[in-house]
Amino acid sequence: MDANILFNTLIFHTFITKKTMNRITLIIQLLLIINFSFSQNNDEKVIRDIFDNVLLNDEAYNNLEYLCTEAPGRLIGSDESIIAVNFMKDYFKKLGADSVFLQEFITPAWKCNSTEVSILIDGKEIQLRADALGPSPSTQGKGLFTNVIEVQGLDELKALDKEEVQGKIVFYNRPVDMRIVSTFRVYSSAIDQRYYGPKVAAEMGASGVLVRSVGTRIDTFPHTGSTGFKEIKIPCAAISTVDANILSKALKDNKALKVKMVIDAEDMEEITTYNLIADLRGNEFPDEFIVVGGHIDSWFNSPGAHDDGIGCVQSADVMRIFKELGIENKRTIRVILFMDEELFQSGGSAYANYTHANEIKNYLALEADAGGFTPEGFTVDASDSVVGIISGYQSLLEPYGIHYIKKGGSGVDIGPLKQFGVPLMGYRTDSQRYMDLHHSAYDTFDKVHIRELQLGSGNMAAIIFLVDKYGL
Ligand SMILES: [Zn+2]
Repeated sequence: MDANILFNTLIFHTFITKKTMNRITLIIQLLLIINFSFSQNNDEKVIRDIFDNVLLNDEAYNNLEYLCTEAPGRLIGSDESIIAVNFMKDYFKKLGADSVFLQEFITPAWKCNSTEVSILIDGKEIQLRADALGPSPSTQGKGLFTNVIEVQGLDELKALDKEEVQGKIVFYNRPVDMRIVSTFRVYSSAIDQRYYGPKVAAEMGASGVLVRSVGTRIDTFPHTGSTGFKEIKIPCAAISTVDANILSKALKDNKALKVKMVIDAEDMEEITTYNLIADLRGNEFPDEFIVVGGHIDSWFNSPGAHDDGIGCVQSADVMRIFKELGIENKRTIRVILFMDEELFQSGGSAYANYTHANEIKNYLALEADAGGFTPEGFTVDASDSVVGIISGYQSLLEPYGIHYIKKGGSGVDIGPLKQFGVPLMGYRTDSQRYMDLHHSAYDTFDKVHIRELQLGSGNMAAIIFLVDKYGL
């Protein structure tokens, strides 16, 4: 831009021959090339500094340990969710954030106290490892004790007569499709049973639902998750893949087998909760916000290390890196630890509504909620021109494990910002182990590798530095 102005000024205000003109053009081009390579070298140096810092720093890792051990099961409405928010709030204050505040909102929530599922084989009661789906209702009285009907999916259930289903527990047992390489797509291959299964079974008169856990291992961990009820709610739970196989075999041996199911859970009509927001003020455009975040809640059965404690501590680490290295940010870097990604996705909507109502400009939003394994890339949900600009930075991040920056999805919490035209991004890591632990008690702190965590923080800080410096 500056070079153009200089060029025009020269044309209009100086008497020049064609030869001189060519020389001037050449000099300007050289200056631009020198300026470009200086910027490139300078950017490389800043990014190297970011990684020199982050690969020797364990604050984010220690914060994650706290979240997983002192506030596991951080579901919206739980005491643990507030312990986690308060801990991270204090951390942002310690970092010297320019402002730290709780964005309050009121929303329904749900609580699960216990889930028990068992079968009787040869007079012996065998417990199946199970966790209720959210927001399952409680079973009434002493619980359900009834026959089971196994199906391999929604279509098979819908093809049955209602009388066949009436009063029974529907058992969805179609396994995931393990041939698919991306485990997010593996997950999608069976998630319809968990999300829509209880609703469809309720409409057909079933008294309860059991779902084979949506995961990539045959193991003993139930993987819970949300289910989309309409009017009628029936008790529903996920059982581990090992237990799904046990139940399926027992049903083959004895079609009259009965399952006992006791769920103690309750709807919480209205609770007050919070997104945690910390800002690092920009020095040129302080009213433009570059959002980086993850979700602070986790399922009641899970310490939530990869989902999504790690996204939270990495996002906080972006602020730490900017502060410690003294990187000047033009725009305000806003770290948001969203509440309630898991159950009703109320935190993301609450933030989008809050910023819309207050005419706050979100310049870009980046979410880390796809596991914290070895970095792979960034996906960008924006116009082709914005995708083009951001993907241009890939070569600078290649040495640090970013092998692609391409068009794609972002994150559930920042999704509601899309309607307001905000460019969205998602941080992506190697997904192979993610569905082993997703929404289960297996998602513990020890599954997180400190260097993988650090590389994530570093790459998130680096891409924000570049987007902030050059703009979109
Ligand atoms: Zn998540």
